[in-house]
Amino acid sequence: MTEHLPAEVELELKRRLGQRSASALEKHLGLSTVGELLNYFPRRYLKRGELTSIAELPLDENVTLVARVVSCTTRRMRARKGILTDVVVSDDSVRGLNQVHLTFFNAYRADKELLPGTLAMFAGKVTTYQRQLTLTNPDYVLLEDETGFDAVEARRPVPLYPATAKLSSWRIKAAVEALLDVVDFSRIEDPVPADIAIRDRLYSLEDAYQQIHRPQDLESVAKAQERFRYQEALILQTALARRRAQAAAEEATARPHRRAGLLERFDASLPFTLTGGQQEVGATIAAELAENHPMNRLLQGEVGSGKTLVALRAMLQVIDAGGQAVLMAPTEVLAGQHYESIRRMLGPLAEGGMLGGDENGTRVVLLTGSVVGSARRSVLRDINSNEAGIVIGTHALLSKEVEYYDLGLIVVDEQHRFGVEQRDQLRAQAIKPPHLLVMTATPIPRTVAMTVFGDLETSVLRELPAGRAPIRTHLVGLVENPGWADRIWARAREEVDAGRQVYVVCPKIGDDEGEDPASFEPTADAGEESRPLASVQRMAEFLAELPVLSGVRIGVLHGRLDSAEKNATMAAFTEGRLDLLVSTTVIEVGVDVPNATMMVILDADRFGISQLHQLRGRVGRGSLLGTCLLVTSLEPGHPSRERLQAVEATTDGFRLAQDDLKLRREGDILGSSQSGGKSTLKLLRVIKDEAVIEHARKDAAAIIEHDAQLGDYPELADAIEQYLNPEKEAFLERG
Ligand code: ADP
Ligand code: MG
Repeated sequence: MTEHLPAEVELELKRRLGQRSASALEKHLGLSTVGELLNYFPRRYLKRGELTSIAELPLDENVTLVARVVSCTTRRMRARKGILTDVVVSDDSVRGLNQVHLTFFNAYRADKELLPGTLAMFAGKVTTYQRQLTLTNPDYVLLEDETGFDAVEARRPVPLYPATAKLSSWRIKAAVEALLDVVDFSRIEDPVPADIAIRDRLYSLEDAYQQIHRPQDLESVAKAQERFRYQEALILQTALARRRAQAAAEEATARPHRRAGLLERFDASLPFTLTGGQQEVGATIAAELAENHPMNRLLQGEVGSGKTLVALRAMLQVIDAGGQAVLMAPTEVLAGQHYESIRRMLGPLAEGGMLGGDENGTRVVLLTGSVVGSARRSVLRDINSNEAGIVIGTHALLSKEVEYYDLGLIVVDEQHRFGVEQRDQLRAQAIKPPHLLVMTATPIPRTVAMTVFGDLETSVLRELPAGRAPIRTHLVGLVENPGWADRIWARAREEVDAGRQVYVVCPKIGDDEGEDPASFEPTADAGEESRPLASVQRMAEFLAELPVLSGVRIGVLHGRLDSAEKNATMAAFTEGRLDLLVSTTVIEVGVDVPNATMMVILDADRFGISQLHQLRGRVGRGSLLGTCLLVTSLEPGHPSRERLQAVEATTDGFRLAQDDLKLRREGDILGSSQSGGKSTLKLLRVIKDEAVIEHARKDAAAIIEHDAQLGDYPELADAIEQYLNPEKEAFLERG
């Protein structure tokens, strides 16, 4: 690989910029090679003459602002020795906050250079001092030179780089410009194939670098960004297309539909008809299972859309064809529920070889960490002897002890809880690569599916089975409606009196310990730690004492209980022996109690959008109308209440997922799901750049179809290698 690495890009900056600039860039920005500095793009651009809006300046952050000097006064300091220069600058707006005071201690040039009327760019941290916005000893550069006026220069937008207190935007700009003058662009590999560049009239690599750093005008900036965005998308999509092609080229055992098998008998026994989506996805899956290449499919659908049923039908087809199927769930509770519901759905078909069972039936076994001793040995034996057609479990399935007779299909529930490694580990337990179906109820916008799960084909179940009651969601603000604190529990009582069940969800387990990290989304804002949050333990005690709930049977569920306790509580709630369940988010995924009609989420602002949507999917599972109360103690207008309003406003999971993404940082989406670890997307935005991603995806598919090894595209292959192994690249450069 080494000889393919673009020599020019690897060069240390020292050799191009000299020791001083190079070490400043390395020290403050971590940039040490030509390539890294070239790829350090401006964050935005200022039009010449455009002043920074002072009213919008953030406090206590390093900012770069362009402003005009209004006055400049210098005086001796009384208390200390030395002189103080006070410069007032303005953004020329007539109203509102339009001035910043610059204070220079012993400035030796400021009093001579920053004369009234001068336009300059300043960098520093804005603070308030005596009710005025203040910059102390800011770094600055003059923008208008009285002598000589360059008409071309005057039109050029000014790039603003992400800067630090020690290294201002224009120092970075100067270093980049010095570099642009000496780089031999012909030696930098261009990952974009020439025919595509010509077809789409893309900037050459050199033009793109020149224009993104030293633009002619804003249109050139846009063109440069367009080329880099496309380039990123193409690299990513080609990597994914290659992975798909490699997976598809693998040989799997075909598991074609067999007539008069378990699947047909199961279908005949179903008390309802499949939804259109279930039929369509089912047909796709059936066809893919019949191929002798592995299926790799992601099935998305709202909670309750009938994914498990689709998966079960796929499993039966595989069993009919002689194979076994495994279903992996993220928690014991969920695995247990799948086990129960699948056995219930299969009825006698799940009792193969058992007294009273179907003689041609199969057997369903459950393997979790709490299945031990002789029960465990018996399960392992059934798996090994092919007695068990369907194996359901948790991470315990990854144990080396588990030896399948012939594993044909892996179903992974709630894929986002599992890493690719775990998927691969399961695959390794099969003789030939098995077929794979991953399911998620967390709606994933199309483009994210194309990027993060780009190695999987995706199917979506959009409609819910008929007769499903909708869910009503209400935001309950305790600040503006203090009376509601009591009203909530009276409502819960009504529900229980009507024979229904209620969930109460809290963000943490107890008061004494730290917060339960599992229940927090990265979006939950810090800084409100002082406010005591509802805890399961305290709430359970409180509710048990509450007169309005007297006689109500209350259970408690959270992650710190051992699994026997958890299972017992969940079973009691499922069977109606408990009326009200106080819990953390352990009930988040897949739990199915159709009689539960109300959910109260306390301190709902501590949860993310998707999490809230998932949680409320627990109620309204049957034909009964569900109610979800999002309770918050935040003031109306608090930014975190936006999430709650979004969840209140719609039950469309895809729209909420989109909203969620907008409120999150892009890195959080791609972050850990990427094989390379750190996300290297620079300009590409997964949501905003949908069109670019789609375009690149088509090109990538065409490239891989005609040249799967990328033999004709060495530059693109190198770029993919660098994308997938950023650490390796860094190592080579430093070594
Ligand atoms: P998911 O796994 O997507 O959350 P499930 O497969 O668990 O959804 O289905 C939820 C409930 O709906 C189950 O009780 C299931 O039996 C039922 N169900 C599934 N498909 C249909 C259908 N086509 N018509 C009616 N009920 C259905
Ligand atoms: Mg499910």
